[in-house]
Amino acid sequence: MSVITTKSSLLLRELRELMASSQKPQTRLNNITSLIASHMVAEVCSVYVAIPGEKLELFSSKGLKATAVHKTILNVGEGLVGIIAEKAQPLALSDAKLHPNFSYRPETGEEIYHSFLGVPLLRRGQTVGVIVVQNIKLRSYKDEEIEVLETIAMVIAEMIATGELGVFFAIKEDDPRHNKPHTVEGLVLSQGIVIGKAVLYEKRIEVLKIISEDMELENKRLINGLRDLKHNIEKLINGLEVISNGEHRGVLEAYQMLSNDPSWEKRLFVAIKKGLTAEGAVQSVQSDVKARLLRQKNPFIREKLYDLDDLSYRLLRHIRGDIDKNINIDLNEDTILFARNMGPADLLEYSSSSIKGLVIEEASPNSHVSIVARALGIPSLGGFGNIINIVENGDKIIIDANAGILHIRQDQDLEAVFRDKLLTQASLQKKYDSIRNSPTITRDNIPISLMINAGLMIDLPYLKLTNADGIGLFRTELQFMVSSKFPRLTEQETYYSSVLGEAGEKPVTFRTLDIGSDKVLPYFSRKKEDNPALGWRALRFSLERPGLLRLQMRALIKASSNKNLNIIFPLVAEISEFVEAKKIFLKELDFIKLKGYPLPKNYSLGVMIEVPSLLWQLEELYEEVDFISIGSNDLLQYLFASDRGHAQLSQRYDPISISVLRVLKKIITTAEVANIPVSLCGEIAGKPLEAMALLGLGFKQLSITPSNMGAIKSMVLSLDLDKITKHMDDILSHNKSNVRDSLIYFAKDNKVEIESFSWG
Ligand code: PEP
Ligand code: MG
Repeated sequence: MSVITTKSSLLLRELRELMASSQKPQTRLNNITSLIASHMVAEVCSVYVAIPGEKLELFSSKGLKATAVHKTILNVGEGLVGIIAEKAQPLALSDAKLHPNFSYRPETGEEIYHSFLGVPLLRRGQTVGVIVVQNIKLRSYKDEEIEVLETIAMVIAEMIATGELGVFFAIKEDDPRHNKPHTVEGLVLSQGIVIGKAVLYEKRIEVLKIISEDMELENKRLINGLRDLKHNIEKLINGLEVISNGEHRGVLEAYQMLSNDPSWEKRLFVAIKKGLTAEGAVQSVQSDVKARLLRQKNPFIREKLYDLDDLSYRLLRHIRGDIDKNINIDLNEDTILFARNMGPADLLEYSSSSIKGLVIEEASPNSHVSIVARALGIPSLGGFGNIINIVENGDKIIIDANAGILHIRQDQDLEAVFRDKLLTQASLQKKYDSIRNSPTITRDNIPISLMINAGLMIDLPYLKLTNADGIGLFRTELQFMVSSKFPRLTEQETYYSSVLGEAGEKPVTFRTLDIGSDKVLPYFSRKKEDNPALGWRALRFSLERPGLLRLQMRALIKASSNKNLNIIFPLVAEISEFVEAKKIFLKELDFIKLKGYPLPKNYSLGVMIEVPSLLWQLEELYEEVDFISIGSNDLLQYLFASDRGHAQLSQRYDPISISVLRVLKKIITTAEVANIPVSLCGEIAGKPLEAMALLGLGFKQLSITPSNMGAIKSMVLSLDLDKITKHMDDILSHNKSNVRDSLIYFAKDNKVEIESFSWG
């Protein structure tokens, strides 16, 4: 055993004896600080505890003036102790006074101490206090000393959490519960509307015994727990139809890989060597993971940490042998499950039960659990600050996962509105079902092509389900984003082959990797950019990393043998960028030919019109490309200089204002002259009123989110194209300031169906 684990287990043994004594909590805490000070050969050991109002109170100290105890109170973020609490990270300094955050409290008498080591007291990732040791002499604390203090910190955090000190307030957890109706905006994880009752998913497991009495025994318990955990996950993955293919399997396999992560296991076994029980070891490692999670901004690393957190809970249950018990959850047909976070495996475990809706505080649309929720068709919201603390079991809830709004304890009037919405939704759905297989033609018999946007295997069933004409935009980056490492050639090829296989005779337009800006790859480190939406992204990135682009081209070409291959390039700002990409494609095509592989039957290469600079070089562009598609999401953000994801700006500019319509008209008329096929694949194409305007401008092909298909098709079937074309010409020539109103009147007068709802 190493020196560190021996030291730690010795200290823990003495600590255990202290904890078992029948002293008063304050006396016990004082004895603990004295014990730590003497073990760590420090003149000072102090414990600060979180109290309401984001403050920290000095609760016990060996070495500082006794009169300062319960008097000295710091704000979180104030002084060195405040920084440790805020950042949930240890801090070791050989001369504390040199630190810019040093703040001296005269009542403590700490001015004579130079060296400083502080560690946060973490409980489930929340800071509940800080423990500090100080020395008079200048000295550097070693890593092992920091680790010993971290282990002790866990024991003290538990002591605080069990209420032994008469306080338990986690910093930033003092949200009052209340009973009033409440409405919050969140992120849509999986679309739909549901009304139900809240059930809190509390997967807390109280770990009462942290310090071990028999290291060998605890080691065995951990080994058995890990074995059972792996076995159980494998069973779960193999037993579910929902993950038969596609990225759900990828997500769960990545999750499974984590359970075999040797570094995680190593840390667990080291914690046992330090003197913790198997449960204590899991909790100690988990606490650290959670603290890292709270500091983490990168969504993909967060995702991995969530999964690790989830695995820890499962491992705890295996160690305790209660994995088969439902974790205190009473599900019924009204259940809307609320969780702080939840792993994909946990949700799958409940898939056969009736979860009507799901609210996951910390999840984002790309979370693994969201992908599974969409596969199961459960309307879900996420991305909330602290919702669990204001919801009680049994509260009435409305999830509006079309608008991204959560209503808690709604009043009867609001509930009646939503019940009506559900009825309208049901009758519209019936109507959409009835027109699904009819041809998409306007009332004056002009065929319109409606395609869907896709990006993951999970989207492909919608091709049949919506009876769409094809996939107008396949966002290839999504496969890269849900993978834990860069997909290799064979993986990419298999993926594209299955997309084409599922699509059958219907065309698919693959967009090359559109990463950067808000789309980050977890395994790709990149420099921070001040303006990532204007930065190193999409085709700019691909052209500077031609190896990656070549690989993707090769995979696409090989996957399309004897089929039609359509490739589109994102964020082209200059024609030369497209020309360069085309060269790379042609080179790859030659390579495949040389190797004797079968080639695509046909290929066409296109450009997304997303950057305004292209608007002044359209004619020249048409000489190079085979087709174009307008990415209105990006084009509009650059035209209006208005961030597409900015909540405050989202209603500011109307996408069907006169300036935009003129730009779109210019694109479509010039493309017609050049005989270049045009489509539009941004979000506006999925909104009935906007789509009506687009058809009036001359668009004959739109690519939309599958859930909008019913509404758009219903609009097309009720529209007279000749009339809307004339109306749009009128709007364009008269410079009408309120286009939207004019279009609403047009739709009313001409009985065009612009009512809509999206289904998940
Ligand atoms: C667009 O910009 O309109 C588009 C379709 O691409 P994305 O939303 O993926 O940027
Ligand atoms: Mg775009």
